[in-house]
Amino acid sequence: MNPNIPYGKQFIDEKDIEAVVSVLKGDWLTTGPKVDEFENAIAKYIGCQHATVVNSGTSALDIAVQTLKIKKGLEIVTTPFSFAATSNSIVYNNLVPIFADIKKNTRNIDPEDIKRKITNKTAAIIYVDYAGHPCDIDMIKEIAYENDLYLIEDASHAIGSEYKSRKIGNHADMTIFSFHPVKNMTTGEGGAVVTDNNEFDKSLKILRNQGIDTDLHERQSKKDYMYDIKELGRNYRITDFQCALGISQLKKLNSFITKRNELANLYKKLLENVDFVETPSNWGNVKNSWHIYTILLKKQIDRDDFFRYMKNNNIGVNVHYIPIYRFSYYKNHYNFDPLNYPVTESVFNKIITLPLYPCLKTEQVEYICDKIRNYTLIKGEKK
Ligand SMILES: *Cc1c(COP(=O)(O)O)cnc(C)c1O
Repeated sequence: MNPNIPYGKQFIDEKDIEAVVSVLKGDWLTTGPKVDEFENAIAKYIGCQHATVVNSGTSALDIAVQTLKIKKGLEIVTTPFSFAATSNSIVYNNLVPIFADIKKNTRNIDPEDIKRKITNKTAAIIYVDYAGHPCDIDMIKEIAYENDLYLIEDASHAIGSEYKSRKIGNHADMTIFSFHPVKNMTTGEGGAVVTDNNEFDKSLKILRNQGIDTDLHERQSKKDYMYDIKELGRNYRITDFQCALGISQLKKLNSFITKRNELANLYKKLLENVDFVETPSNWGNVKNSWHIYTILLKKQIDRDDFFRYMKNNNIGVNVHYIPIYRFSYYKNHYNFDPLNYPVTESVFNKIITLPLYPCLKTEQVEYICDKIRNYTLIKGEKK
């Protein structure tokens, strides 16, 4: 057994490779037919109207926020317990990120704290389905309805998850996905925005291409060169060979998620009787895609010492996440006080991510859990 276990890893098979190679042999490396095909496949999988694919999840978030055309200086409430891309997208758009605290059991944003953070400047909420576990979406929607706010769901972890038997991607005004190699499926780098709103969809497709307001193929078929730029867009296009990989990966997504669920159940079973570990559970009527598996260590355990111990055993642990308000950029620009986020702080101090990905082997999970169990024996004097 290879003892060097990363925390996340893509699964690529021969079909994926063939799909990419066949695009490389064809005429269109970018802006070709695979882009539409991937978008249609995503919309069909989710059961929604539209998908726009882009070169990263971060780009997807950026153009989703820009599409809302929120006046400069207004606020968006979001979670601090996420990858910085979530709130960076707010800052890119000259808006102010306002953090709400999280719930310990799911690490998801706490709807009660969202309510406390809403002011007359609040324009939207961006919530993250942490680790693939859907947020308390009904409550968040109710808050958005009562306060007339837009909803963006950062489902970078949660493609394939379900809330009340409906796939993630059907709940917010726009939902974004990431296809980075550690995520549930990959295109190398890549992302998508899905929506049922025709106007939003139109805007997203324009903004990913410099703001150019007509489609290349449309212009070619009309034998026309003219276009206009009314909004300032970017180059967030994704290549056709990445889309070919995405189409091929999407066919395997359900099997990836089944495997992730099996491994998460195995972790739970093997760690059940380890008294210093709190394993995660599903809460409410949800299907969890288990993008990451995070445990909480009990009070007496020093997380950083445990982290080094696992690394010394070649186990790719990680910490998801360093709260965003702790980063210098955010501290220097916004004066966030960690004391205002007591749950985020206490979870951050005790959380650790264990390896989880479809090709992780049962024996590797057993090895990891054996090492965890042995930690207190080795560090016996500390307990
Ligand atoms: C991965 C991720 C993103 C976007 O990441 P990209 O690397 O830009 O695709 C955004 N939010 C969260 C919560 C993520 O985990």
